Amino acid sequence: MLEPTTQPIAMIQIIPISAFDDNYIWCLYDDISQQAVVVDPGDAKPVIAALDAMQLDLVAILITHHHFDHTGGIDELVAQYKVPVYGPRSDHIDQITHHLAESDTLSIMGLDFITLEVPGHTLDHIALYCEQADGGPILFCGDTLFAGGCGRLFEGNPAMMLSSLTKLAELSADTRVYCAHEYTLANLAFANAVEPDNQALQQRISQATGLRQQGLPTLPSTIATEIATNPFLRCHQTAVIDRAKQHRQDDCADSTAVFATIRGWKDNFSV
Ligand code: ZN
Ligand code: FE
Repeated sequence: MLEPTTQPIAMIQIIPISAFDDNYIWCLYDDISQQAVVVDPGDAKPVIAALDAMQLDLVAILITHHHFDHTGGIDELVAQYKVPVYGPRSDHIDQITHHLAESDTLSIMGLDFITLEVPGHTLDHIALYCEQADGGPILFCGDTLFAGGCGRLFEGNPAMMLSSLTKLAELSADTRVYCAHEYTLANLAFANAVEPDNQALQQRISQATGLRQQGLPTLPSTIATEIATNPFLRCHQTAVIDRAKQHRQDDCADSTAVFATIRGWKDNFSV
């Protein structure tokens, strides 16, 4: 009779690889198989250095959208590791080998991801969500949702971006949110201008400030934290509506108008 084998259970670790001024290239790796995946490698050099230092073997690249700070390292990585590149169907990214559209699934290193189309920052933007990761769900959302903020509307319109952000806000509250930039302190300073009386926001500002003083990332965030403190996910809250009306000096008729007002305000806000 065959004995049941006890396979070691893979633990997926997720670490940020810093690139440029404030990008995070998220690296997921399995510490038993030593396989790794990177998300949005804008630059190959720091990725190769990290993989070498940890003796990891790259098995796939995931891409959220076409901007160069998320895709600029693909060619060099593919030349060295010959791995598939998963990402959106986009006129701007030639290197994608496996296209992902809404609800498409992707199984990689034992993680089952589902694709969410989240246009707004760009039209081709996708996010990848995995519900059953160790320690709870995980989300890679590129430049759509940031800690305390959201991406600029380079290609989409406010209604589109608000709908994308709402889709992310509906994910499990304990989802860990891996954004592609360290913009948190600047975002929270703006959030504080919108909602100075939000207690959860005040706590978050002191916590994030402490992390940055130690040179640590403020990420991942969680969906629950974003719902409590991120003005762009709070366009239906009275305090945010009132502030938007005051800023625009007009009646913000609906959540899209509130969102458009605070997004426009943030575009011109300096700390
Ligand atoms: Zn971008
Ligand atoms: Fe970016």
